[in-house]
Amino acid sequence: MKFTVSTRHYAPTATCAVPTQPVTACSGLDPELFFPVGESGPVLLQEQEAKAVCRRCPLMDSCLQGALDRGETTGVWGGTSPRDRRTILLREAAARTKTA
Ligand code: SF4
Repeated sequence: MKFTVSTRHYAPTATCAVPTQPVTACSGLDPELFFPVGESGPVLLQEQEAKAVCRRCPLMDSCLQGALDRGETTGVWGGTSPRDRRTILLREAAARTKTA
């Protein structure tokens, strides 16, 4: 017995949706918000405002990891200030020392 397969039934019937990239919460905002200059006074309010934006961001964790990997010494990244990241790195180093 011989079967004939018609290829027209195998033609794609659904459109292939391109996965959308998550939109960062800082997209379209003034980048200067994330780069406060100084560590006191109104600068702290600016830093808190930037961190609040980060807390709404779907990429907060990967943004923070990237900043730690790159050794970012300025700016708010992943909801952290440079001081916060120094603290994280010091804690990680201390934890590594304890386990070594
Ligand atoms: S976590 Fe990173 S990408 Fe998201 S809003 Fe903050 S700085 Fe922008």
